[in-house]
Amino acid sequence: MNYKELADLIFPNAKDISYYEEKYPERDLQEGAIVTRFAPSPTGFVHIGGLYQALIARKLSKQTKGVFFLRVEDTDQKREVENGVSGIVNSLKDFGLEPDEGMITETREIGNYGPYQQSRRKEIYQSYAKYMITQGKAYPCFCTPEEGEELRKTQEQAKIRPGYYGVWAKCRKLSLEEMAEKIKSGMPYIIRFKSQGREDKKIKHKDIIKGNVEFPENDQDIVIIKADGLPTYHFAHAVDDHLMRTTHIIRSDEWLSSVPLHLQLFQELGFKAPKYAHIAPIMKNDCGNKRKLSKRKDPEAAVSYYKKVGIPKQAVKEYLLNIANSSFENWRRANKEADIDDFELQLNKMSVSGALFDMVKLLDVSKIVISNFDAITVYNESLKWAQEYDKELEEMLLDKEYSLKVLGIERNNSNKPRKDLAKWEDVKENIIYMYDNKFFEEKIEYEWQKVNNLSQIKDILNVYLGKYYDENADKEKWFNDIKDLAEEFGFAREVKEYKKEPDKWKGHVGDISTIIRVALTGRHNTPDLYEIMRVLGSQSIEKRINKIRE
Ligand code: GLU
Repeated sequence: MNYKELADLIFPNAKDISYYEEKYPERDLQEGAIVTRFAPSPTGFVHIGGLYQALIARKLSKQTKGVFFLRVEDTDQKREVENGVSGIVNSLKDFGLEPDEGMITETREIGNYGPYQQSRRKEIYQSYAKYMITQGKAYPCFCTPEEGEELRKTQEQAKIRPGYYGVWAKCRKLSLEEMAEKIKSGMPYIIRFKSQGREDKKIKHKDIIKGNVEFPENDQDIVIIKADGLPTYHFAHAVDDHLMRTTHIIRSDEWLSSVPLHLQLFQELGFKAPKYAHIAPIMKNDCGNKRKLSKRKDPEAAVSYYKKVGIPKQAVKEYLLNIANSSFENWRRANKEADIDDFELQLNKMSVSGALFDMVKLLDVSKIVISNFDAITVYNESLKWAQEYDKELEEMLLDKEYSLKVLGIERNNSNKPRKDLAKWEDVKENIIYMYDNKFFEEKIEYEWQKVNNLSQIKDILNVYLGKYYDENADKEKWFNDIKDLAEEFGFAREVKEYKKEPDKWKGHVGDISTIIRVALTGRHNTPDLYEIMRVLGSQSIEKRINKIRE
């Protein structure tokens, strides 16, 4: 019995690997083009750290005119959930991070290097496993899970490094005949890699983000094909990223310590190794302690959170780039209007130990992003959000013409656009007082300020409405009218005047306009009062003032 005969016995129908090598040729791309991927498992949960990886990977491929693809790693069938692929595909779509190749729905894919779902690549892995066996680089292992458990206990008790390696690799020592006999007798088995590595030797590796790292060589005979015929991550990664012609593996740094094994697999398979960039996890400051964003503790760890509260995708992406490269902030300052695609991301400038995610900063970024949207974009986006999450807001927005005017306050043509919206969830609270049916429906707690004597307030409002209010006034005249009103009641026309001789006046023009503001909106803190009054119109203004005069 030789290796080839053993291989034929195990995988009689597997194709020769030359078939796949030809089927998936080198990609015809320009020099320096980065081919990379996002390769999540469909567990039903997309972590913001995953989106961060996808954003970075996609950006680098775009910057170099390369390819970004989505590969679904579903070989651990225990962890899978229904519609897990759609969850990933839709999350990428929600953030405008569609792949060039790979899965595009639960079952459909695009691109010439597929299938892009590992569970449909079984035959391919088997061909390469067969090749390894033929080369004497892999072998069948007949140890049962119970034997594995026993081995673990023995090693633990003896305080020996755990694993299936060296003298502990029992099946490695079987003769080819013994192996063949066990297979023929129907014994279940898995396929293990036959490692030539030595624990006492070191391997040096240069990671694009982590820099130079040194690890002991891998000497573990790791499983490459499991009992269900599917590969482990390690083996699938090597085969897939070779055949999909990936140039850069951009992934979470939990895999950094597997690099010795992965490089060894690439070498033993005869593949050229890709470059690796291991991204540190996104961290959170939790009462002074830096820890990973946790799926269990932090709602913002889930990508779905951002959609739910309505933080625009532009803001999330902008913020993630901000934490990816510290140079982004300066770039943004110098290029206020530029599209984030114009920012040149540098992998080697990413944080080695984990960037800090700060929700308050993200919301600040989001306020700026939304302040740059025109009214129709704010309208469309908040309507889309409301249709899914807030029926009351959806109803308010039904009157499109009026809503556009409301949302246009301090926005359209304003050189200092309002920055009071960080997420679509904030819209209702910010505009609800502008809608008569809402305003008159509720009992309002007026937030009167300096002047809070109701009978004086009524007097002032009476005179304003009867003598000064002019619905057609331009802003200058409007303000002048309020100044006249102020003077009539013994308030200074200008704040300056008041400050010079505070005893001479009851207050100043600002106190008077505040009365009008509070009367019309119920609040003392609102956007520009002149614009608000233009949008409300005279009927609503009179009604609102009458409500106080009653
Ligand atoms: N499926 C692996 C994971 O989700 C992918 C790692 C990789 O990108 O290679 O961790």
